[in-house]
Amino acid sequence: MSRGDGNQELTRRWQGALMDNYGTPRVPLTHGEGARVWDADGREYLDFVGGIAVNSLGTAHPAVVRAVSDQVAMLGHVSNLFIAEPPVALAEKLLEVTGTGRPGRVYFSNSGAEAVEAAFKIGRRTGRTHMVATQGGFHGRTMGALALTGQPAKQEPFLPLPGDVSHVPYGDVAALRAAVTEETALLIVEPVQGEAGVVVPPEGYLAAAREITRATGTLLVVDEVQTGIGRTGHWSECQAQGVEPDVLTLAKGLGGGLPIGATLAFGPAADLLTPGQHGSTFGGNPVACAAALAVLDTIEAEGILANVKRIGARLRDSIAALEHPMIEHVRGSGLLLGIVLTESVAPSVQQAAQDAGFLVNAVAPDVIRLAPPLILGEAEADALTAALPAVLDAAGGARRT
Ligand code: PMP
Repeated sequence: MSRGDGNQELTRRWQGALMDNYGTPRVPLTHGEGARVWDADGREYLDFVGGIAVNSLGTAHPAVVRAVSDQVAMLGHVSNLFIAEPPVALAEKLLEVTGTGRPGRVYFSNSGAEAVEAAFKIGRRTGRTHMVATQGGFHGRTMGALALTGQPAKQEPFLPLPGDVSHVPYGDVAALRAAVTEETALLIVEPVQGEAGVVVPPEGYLAAAREITRATGTLLVVDEVQTGIGRTGHWSECQAQGVEPDVLTLAKGLGGGLPIGATLAFGPAADLLTPGQHGSTFGGNPVACAAALAVLDTIEAEGILANVKRIGARLRDSIAALEHPMIEHVRGSGLLLGIVLTESVAPSVQQAAQDAGFLVNAVAPDVIRLAPPLILGEAEADALTAALPAVLDAAGGARRT
């Protein structure tokens, strides 16, 4: 295979072997380092997708590589009939950093959807069946999580879905007040709707959700699969906003690239599932937990939360300051940003960025999502800002021809 054929070859094999869930693949990647990744033709990109908010420490961070190698050499897997140190240490650490003082317990799984499924089951154990979620919200694609996801196009091919779920407009406190009653098992909300296009609710929304759920004896489930573990510059948005959830879901960035989901339950919610009611063969896998511990330790040791706040603000402000006619505004917090375009050309912008050596994600027809590694440096952030005007012009030009 000569240099330059790698992308084509891998794409052809992909088409023959993998189920076509995601449409035509974009660029086959082979390796990376920090915020840079390379494709199968040897071309380098700055990565503002980050495995979709997963590669919190970038690609091949030495701390993750070491933790995974050491753990897999020592004890790669242990069934939940036994226990091992990494899940215990990780649960303790998660309760400490994301908890808000109340005692809690953790259930480990392998993905965000599974973290939400566990929350769904905890909700069912209240004895109530009605649930409230938000329009546009995304909570995963397994059947319970999909029932909570507020995107009809993703639900319709799979109806009927379990549960009795009301979807209310996101950010609207009056709608929450009307929908959540003394018969509601749980309310699930994202602090920022990631998949819907980095949609930020009005200030105080999460606190209002807490007040309404407390008054009706409803569980408040905050889905921080995307926003948690430093993405917005905090361990969790709940903690940043002083809101005590009953259940908190985490995944994505937690494992630094390894698959892991966590469902944290606080107070009485921690005891609703009893032995035998829920489980997973791989949940709490020591290798995934060791990777997550390395992520948490590195975030702490290297002051990464402060980096996210500083670089996130720099990126947001510098892009907004471009005052490009195709940019309506920039929203989000920390290193979860949405560039809202004045027209629905996000896919063309994504392609033009890729041609210029930047991986970004058209999360909605008019929104480009940036979710780079949390270790992103100033020069890397500035490189995107500097390239954006030409990228937008190229995308705009492509539209007009
Ligand atoms: N909840 C939220 C808020 C998410 O953003 C996602 C993934 N985009 C999920 C749940 C589902 O996670 P997974 O894809 O790991 O199942």
